[in-house]
Amino acid sequence: MEAFTRNVYLTKKETLSCQRCKRPVKKGERFVAVSEEARGTCFKCSPYTQAAFLPSGDAAMTRRSKKHSSICGVELAWNQRRKRFERKGQYVEAKAIELAQKECEADADKRAKSNAKAAIKREADDKIYIADFAKAIRKRYPNCPVKREVAIAQHACEKHSGRVGRTASAKEFDAEMIDRAVEAHIRHAETDYDNQFNKGKSKRMIRTLVKEDILRVMRQWK
Ligand SMILES: [Zn+2]
Repeated sequence: MEAFTRNVYLTKKETLSCQRCKRPVKKGERFVAVSEEARGTCFKCSPYTQAAFLPSGDAAMTRRSKKHSSICGVELAWNQRRKRFERKGQYVEAKAIELAQKECEADADKRAKSNAKAAIKREADDKIYIADFAKAIRKRYPNCPVKREVAIAQHACEKHSGRVGRTASAKEFDAEMIDRAVEAHIRHAETDYDNQFNKGKSKRMIRTLVKEDILRVMRQWK
C-alpha cells in the first residue's frame, strides 16, 4: 500500500471542472483525465464511458494493462480526510486487462521475489535515512537529550514516509526540516499540548499557548 501511494500525483485543488461541459465536478463524482497532470473532464464527457475500469493498487497490472490498451485515462476522486484528489484507477480496454492478467499470472513468482527484495532495500534505506537525519539533528541541537535525536528522526520518517525513499540518498537535511521535526517532537514530548484538547480551545489557540514553551526548549537544546 505504501509503495503504491508514494508516487501519486496529488492535486490539492478541491474543485476541478470539466474541460468539455465546464461544469464543476462535485465531490464523489468521477473526474477523469489522460494523465494525473492533464486537465480532465467529468466521466460523461470523457472518451472512456465504454472502457473497462482497473482499480489502483497493483502496479504491474496498471503498467501492463496501459501498455496493451490504445486508450488510457486515470480516475481521480477527492479524499476528504487527506484533502486532496487521489488516483482511484484507470480506464483501459477490457482486452488489455485480460492480457495483463495473463502476463501477471505467468511471472507472479518472479515478481513476488523482486518485490520482497525491494521491500528489504527500502527498509535498509529508511534505516540509513533515520541515522543520517538523527546525526543532523544532533549537530544542530547538541544539547538535545541523549538518544532523543533518534526518536525525532524516526517519527519524522514515519510521518513523511512518502518522502523517505526519494531523499534517502541525500545526506543533506536543511535547517528548516530539522527545526520542524524538533519542534513537532517538543510540542508533544515537552509541553502540555496534548492535554489541552477537548477543553473548548481551538487547535490554533492551543498551538499559540505552547509556542513559547517550545521555543524555550529549542533554545536550550541548541
Ligand atoms: Zn463534462
